[in-house]
Amino acid sequence: MTDERRTQSPGAPERKHTGGAATEPTAAESDRRLTPFQAVNQQFERGAELMGLSEDLRIALKTPYREVMVELPLRCEDGEIRTFSGYRVQHDNSRGPMKGGLRYHPEVDLDEVRALASLMTWKTAVVGLPYGGAKGGINCDPHDLHEHDVEVLTRRFVARLSRFIGPHEDIPAPDVNTNAQVMAWIVDEYAKYHGFTPAVVTGKPIQLGGSVGRDSATGRGLQFVTERAAATMGMPLEGARVAVQGFGKVGSWTARYLARVGARIVAISDANGGVFDGDGLDIEGIVAAVTEPGLIPVGAGKERITNAELLALDVDILVPAALGNVLHARNAAQVRARLVVEGANHPTTPEADEILLAAGRTVVPDILANAGGVTVSYFEWVQNLQRFHWSAQRVDEELRRIMDAAYDGVTELATQRQADLRTAAFALAISRVAEATRLRGVS
Ligand code: NAD
Repeated sequence: MTDERRTQSPGAPERKHTGGAATEPTAAESDRRLTPFQAVNQQFERGAELMGLSEDLRIALKTPYREVMVELPLRCEDGEIRTFSGYRVQHDNSRGPMKGGLRYHPEVDLDEVRALASLMTWKTAVVGLPYGGAKGGINCDPHDLHEHDVEVLTRRFVARLSRFIGPHEDIPAPDVNTNAQVMAWIVDEYAKYHGFTPAVVTGKPIQLGGSVGRDSATGRGLQFVTERAAATMGMPLEGARVAVQGFGKVGSWTARYLARVGARIVAISDANGGVFDGDGLDIEGIVAAVTEPGLIPVGAGKERITNAELLALDVDILVPAALGNVLHARNAAQVRARLVVEGANHPTTPEADEILLAAGRTVVPDILANAGGVTVSYFEWVQNLQRFHWSAQRVDEELRRIMDAAYDGVTELATQRQADLRTAAFALAISRVAEATRLRGVS
């Protein structure tokens, strides 16, 4: 995480971890300027409409349960005092403890954390996990900080949050720019207040109670839903051309798994842009050459492309697996993939969604497609509570069972009600959360 650890060859363009390239808009400027939370709620409304949910219950279900905001001043290793903002939004707990990742990124703000927290409520419900939704983050770029600064910042954040998180309250996990090491610091800091409690976070190192298969779980789940969707569309995965945006925890594993089942990964990208090879990239070779997580090694692929070009490639399957709002009103019509599988959270704005649907694209929505990560997080939590370890085979089998059942449940509702997959996924999730809320009673 320090500057020294950057591997940049002399004369090479600067390689960054975060932030979009200036020439490639990632924000949906021409969309109706919806904030991320408004955009998620627009999707929510469609699902609620399909289920005939009353207006008062809609308001109750949309509104976050609790929002925690803390200021985090930090004397950095370079001597400078910098003040960061930390957020944890707990959206809903009617179906169980709240669950969701922790993101370290300069663009983290309250509205986006709210959006991501509410997506977690719908995601855990659509796959039937006994959880609600939450999300957190700090508006920092960990790649501009010394690793020790990131540790101190994490510990300070946990100290301020420790009353609000816990194995039966709210269970964080890794997200953009956070990893198993960050989770280990959280376990250690939380232990100072509550004793050793591994179930307070998931995505931990195995030695601290992490689950086998957690690091690859989101990609594995994406493979399962892609197989299901491709089969429904009559599209053989063998030889299917795939473009994956983002080469971090989600994108790299998705590319690996899809390559293993015979798909041809023709393009991948990171925050600096992408690489293309029409014959298919050697994904395992590229992964083996990665020196910094999330960054494609220099020299990979035959041809450099931009992130904007990657999204518009003539491929069968597109997997946006980086940040939100990358498909928007100005570029959605350029998408040529028949199948879009959302690895990232909210990669498609509502207007882009309409454009894609009108163009006959099949979009497997984030709350279904990328739910493999939270599903194996659930397995990790269960193992922690039981003090028992599952085998890799058991994790994989249970993950496939849950993902397949969720995919089938969503497609069945979509067919019955003649809805798109996103609306059906929201509708299914909303009906489950609404029922739990009704049964528990709103007092
Ligand atoms: P990560 O930090 O491991 O990787 C992010 C990747 O995106 C990196 O390759 C980075 O270079 C790239 N990137 C950053 N900015 C970019 C830009 N402007 N354009 C193109 N690429 C860019 O993060 P991750 O855990 O892989 O998460 C990626 C997405 O998947 C996020 O939306 C996250 O919320 C979502 N998600 C993650 C998980 C999980 O288990 N980690 C689960 C579900 C959803």
